[in-house]
Amino acid sequence: MAAGPTQRIRRVLEVLEKEFPDASCSLNFTNPLELLVATILSAQCTDERVNQVTKDLFKKYRTARDYATVPLTELEKDIQSTGFYRNKARNIRECCRILDEKYGGKVPPSMDDLVTLPGVGRKTANVVLGTAYGIPSGVVVDTHVARISQRLGLTTEKDPEKIEQDLMRLVPQDQWIPFGHRMIKHGRKYCTAKKPRCSECPMNSFCPKMGVEGNTKSPGKTDSSSESKRGKRATSRSCRES
Ligand code: SF4
Repeated sequence: MAAGPTQRIRRVLEVLEKEFPDASCSLNFTNPLELLVATILSAQCTDERVNQVTKDLFKKYRTARDYATVPLTELEKDIQSTGFYRNKARNIRECCRILDEKYGGKVPPSMDDLVTLPGVGRKTANVVLGTAYGIPSGVVVDTHVARISQRLGLTTEKDPEKIEQDLMRLVPQDQWIPFGHRMIKHGRKYCTAKKPRCSECPMNSFCPKMGVEGNTKSPGKTDSSSESKRGKRATSRSCRES
């Protein structure tokens, strides 16, 4: 009988640690405010491009007040090449206005506070809390982590916050921060969106490859679904839905 996600996660964690022992965030930053801004900019944009933009941006804008008081059109121009720049500029400016007025210009190290800021959902908050503050508040679920978790049969969910809840049940809390970084590296190296390199992947022998083209298993029949539901009943940990 095929191993369930509880057994499989142990092997997944072993492979990730062996393959990517030093995986860390690929966004450049020197303080929590810079990481918050970089993470907002990284939506629908590559980390490489964000790093190009923030090289100059972080020299020009040193404090939350700098972002809060700049004319919107000027900030839009400064971040234009990251895409969706009107929305991002509005969110960054409003977010920084609140940081300046309510938090003395600091980024609060709290999930409850962070998710009230414009443009900040659980993913962004988890990145900032985990990477800038070392607080394991949850598992970062970006497009890589979502895709690989589904293919590995660790979740049958599609919504990132529900995927995160499944992963929080499976992955020990002291692994939440490195797990996110390592899964992203794994997604870039092996488990790419269009053509996963399964034959070279070190998880090939135990990965059920749910939803991968050419695989006959149906994602809906993943053995994670029943365990996942059992886990949901047995676990009282609550995650904020935003
Ligand atoms: S075996 Fe294929 S589907 Fe499974 S994790 Fe590796 S690359 Fe992704």
